[in-house]
Amino acid sequence: METTMRMEKEDTRMQAQITIGEPIGLGHGKIDGGTLSAESANELAEQVTEHLVSVDKMAPSTCIDGRPCGECMDGSPTEARPSVAGGGLLTAYAAAELTGWFEDDNLSTTGRLRNVGEYLGALQFKFGAHCDEGSVEKNFTAVADDGSSHPKIGCGADDLLVEILQQPYEHSDEVTALTAAVLSDGYDERYMHFVNDSEVAQHIADWNPTDLIDVLGAETANNIEILKGAHAEVAVVFNFLPDTTVDRDAFVADTGEQVFVVDMWYINKLAKAMARGPEMVAQEQQLKHAMVAYQVATYLTLCNGSQRPIFLK
Ligand SMILES: [Zn+2]
Repeated sequence: METTMRMEKEDTRMQAQITIGEPIGLGHGKIDGGTLSAESANELAEQVTEHLVSVDKMAPSTCIDGRPCGECMDGSPTEARPSVAGGGLLTAYAAAELTGWFEDDNLSTTGRLRNVGEYLGALQFKFGAHCDEGSVEKNFTAVADDGSSHPKIGCGADDLLVEILQQPYEHSDEVTALTAAVLSDGYDERYMHFVNDSEVAQHIADWNPTDLIDVLGAETANNIEILKGAHAEVAVVFNFLPDTTVDRDAFVADTGEQVFVVDMWYINKLAKAMARGPEMVAQEQQLKHAMVAYQVATYLTLCNGSQRPIFLK
């Protein structure tokens, strides 16, 4: 049995075609990956592929965050989970806003998030997200220098969603360039036209990051991970290998390094599931482009451009 499992793991690794890019070079955030030489990047990519594992169908999705997990909010342990910015629900929701996916325009901001969750939940998607230890200690409330307070859960993709969803408009050249680089042959500029920025801003004006935790029902489910420590991601892994992800916690434990992991196959799955109506084929493409735009917009908001991309296909 053990031999079989080892062989399966070997097979996954053998099948991964690794491409390593130059440092991304664009970013308006603080997370600094330092300077990773081409040689170190090669070694790192090898270690990443050694930690590729199959994703259990019942595992809830989580974020691209590279920090390790202690336990989930309900006290249960975690396992390898498909990873996209903010978790599957937030990535799907961001794309829904960018593409005008909603059929009911009278919903509150939280109602819109819930609407996406219910639609995809009915299609058997299991969603999750994460917070972090620091934010749990502070009861999801951050106090600013001027004494004012605001909600914060410790997931940048969620806490800074309003800012992130401005990036495709304020820095459209950067978002377009990075989306094209990530999608490569799958990129088509026809699908990079999103709804009006003032419309998006209006719909998410009441965004409260703690709503994500409420909608996911973290108290009674094992779907919100509590991550530990500080960010130190040195690379961004774009993983196209279906039904796999990087075992984040084992990777950190074995290597002492952190990487962001974007499971591109999961984005394809989400976009396919959300497409509906007579223009399904085009809508799926538009949703996919919007989801990738949200991944790179999150990167631009949180990071400083120092990380290298690693593509696994
Ligand atoms: Zn996060």
